[in-house]
Amino acid sequence: MNSQLCFKSLYESCKCPLHTHLNKQLPIVDSHCHLDDFSNNHPYFRSVSASNIREVFLVSNKHKFHNWDTVFPLPYQNIHVYETFGMHPKFIPERDIHLTLAHLENIFCDYLHPVSGRHIVGVGETGLDETSKSPLEHQKLAFERQVILARNLNLPLVLHCRGYPLFSLMLDCIESILPPSHPIQWHCVKSDSHLEVIDRFISIFSNSVVSLNGSSTHIRDIDQDKVFKKWIRNHPTLINHLVLETDCPWLCPKNLPVLEFNPCTGIFIVSKWVEDVLRAPGKNASTIIRIANDNARRTFGLPI
Ligand SMILES: [Zn+2]
Ligand SMILES: [Zn+2]
Repeated sequence: MNSQLCFKSLYESCKCPLHTHLNKQLPIVDSHCHLDDFSNNHPYFRSVSASNIREVFLVSNKHKFHNWDTVFPLPYQNIHVYETFGMHPKFIPERDIHLTLAHLENIFCDYLHPVSGRHIVGVGETGLDETSKSPLEHQKLAFERQVILARNLNLPLVLHCRGYPLFSLMLDCIESILPPSHPIQWHCVKSDSHLEVIDRFISIFSNSVVSLNGSSTHIRDIDQDKVFKKWIRNHPTLINHLVLETDCPWLCPKNLPVLEFNPCTGIFIVSKWVEDVLRAPGKNASTIIRIANDNARRTFGLPI
């Protein structure tokens, strides 16, 4: 699939004979990545900053408590960074959970981060993860506190879930704390997600978004993959709740060299993947990005 995409078109006008180009001036929104985890001298930043055809909006999740006060500057005019702060279930301190959660709550005293000056647009990512070394009780405690924080601040909540039985536990928790109008992003929905829970999530929370990324391009189980694609193709309202993300630098899409993986190539690949799954008239990579951008703008209040 990647060979059909013109990556040059991400940064400059191109009319080469490759099949898919991205529309000029169409902004790219990566609704979930981890800027802290990829260095700012990555060649990607030079490509974007030299581009005069595209703006890039990154929702960067500061999910590791030891990086909350660290700033990774990005002095490029056409890259706009918005941050969320949270305690990821794989990064829960062994000691002083309450103290660290209190520190997290303090960061939200202002809508600009006190050190970076960047806009804070959400709480998370937070959730439950069966591969975490932290006991489930600690994960639940940290999760519930962050759900309450999102409610009290009226800020979007970013969810992470790994482990089939944990999906309904998380939905039960948010349903008991948040009003149905609360904006929520369920990050990294993929073929092994509990799709019935995701369906319930979409129908309960009218302002929820479901976030797809490059992990969907890897097929681990053929039957599961078929079910997932059918779910996307036939879902009556998914397109109204769809956002795109990369989780960069994690979850590199299939057949893409790691060094070429970045928020622009990652979003382009996942948008083309959604186009191929939907096979719907008028829904090409560019229109899918436009729809997803609009949903992300509404969720996080981005000035696109
Ligand atoms: Zn081209
Ligand atoms: Zn993430």
